[in-house]
Amino acid sequence: MSHADQPDNTSCERCLTRRDLLKLGLGAAVGLGALGGLARLAGPAGASRQRDEDKWSHAARYYDKLPNKYIRCQLCPRHCYVGPGGRGICEVRENQGGEYHTLVYGRAASINIDPIEKKPFFHVLPGRPVFSFATAGCNLECRNCQNWQLSQSRPEAIPATHLPPDKLVEAAKKQSCRLIAGTYSEPTVFSEYLLDVAAEGNKRGLRTLTVSNGFIERQPMLDLCRELAAVKIDLKSMRESFYESNCQGKLKPVLNTIALVKKQNVWLEIVYLVIPTLNDSEAEIKDLAKWVHTNLGPDVPIHFSRFHPEYRLRNLPPTPYETLQRCYAIAVAEGLHFVYVGNAPGHAGQATCCPKCRRRVIERENFSITANYLRNGRCQFCQNPLPGIWS
Ligand code: SF4
Repeated sequence: MSHADQPDNTSCERCLTRRDLLKLGLGAAVGLGALGGLARLAGPAGASRQRDEDKWSHAARYYDKLPNKYIRCQLCPRHCYVGPGGRGICEVRENQGGEYHTLVYGRAASINIDPIEKKPFFHVLPGRPVFSFATAGCNLECRNCQNWQLSQSRPEAIPATHLPPDKLVEAAKKQSCRLIAGTYSEPTVFSEYLLDVAAEGNKRGLRTLTVSNGFIERQPMLDLCRELAAVKIDLKSMRESFYESNCQGKLKPVLNTIALVKKQNVWLEIVYLVIPTLNDSEAEIKDLAKWVHTNLGPDVPIHFSRFHPEYRLRNLPPTPYETLQRCYAIAVAEGLHFVYVGNAPGHAGQATCCPKCRRRVIERENFSITANYLRNGRCQFCQNPLPGIWS
């Protein structure tokens, strides 16, 4: 999840209120404002909690059955080994008598309408609203997480709306959104839900996107690629040591996912949150730009996003503008065509430039489009086609 993509009430274009959802016949919605301090809280113990969880339970995909009713989860590279009654590390998948279940299918804990620039996608239908949803849970534990109240909680600790795929797509249509995004927490852990939302959306002419950490196994990602229109991946560092110490994850599987998405011809953008002293060295940014150029080509957009102190990294300062400028310059010097700077109002790196004539073809301010000189996906000045989803 990018540092910009937060379901707050101040920067999104429109948050759906409880009243909005009641009008749509969807019951109560929640905002994150009320959720402070809920990280990793267990719900009420005992039989009543269990009955409540049964209500939400849905068969999971991507696991192996083992002797003595144990299972091995194959959804993400953590490969949790889970005994009867236990849950995986993400806390949203449970072994129920030797069958694995997801506890978040249709369990929407955050719903907002955001501008697509907030995800951020800069090469997908500029200026369009996106019906954005998330459940609780994440398979990483990033010390800088901005949505930790949602991502690091058990599902029963978070109020949620029952919103199965058909109802979610219907709600998006009623709100005049042609785009849907799984976002905020980590869509990997609600893959079954996202996949069915995307399939339902495709049937009804809506496109679905995901905003993910990319820490997912190959088969579930391939399944998602068949239904998704675009994927944004947060590449958190080019160092295994950072992934291990800051995120409890690994770099290699994320790079594999990024390369896989590119190969599937699904539109791809990358965000790199620049954290002072932890992942901002010149050598690391060069490695990043070279890897992107070599493995993905020069046309995959990369967004350098400004860090703000959050969660367990409140001791660090926000990213200085000079550091962002240095990252931007390194990536451009390495030959990348679409380099952006995010969370940094006023920075020139918010504009899309035509790689051929160097004119600005899309100008942005915060999450708004202020000028658009693309015509049918081509630069209005030199007719050069730009990569992306423009219609
Ligand atoms: S998706 Fe969750 S349960 Fe499955 S391996 Fe990853 S962390 Fe473990």
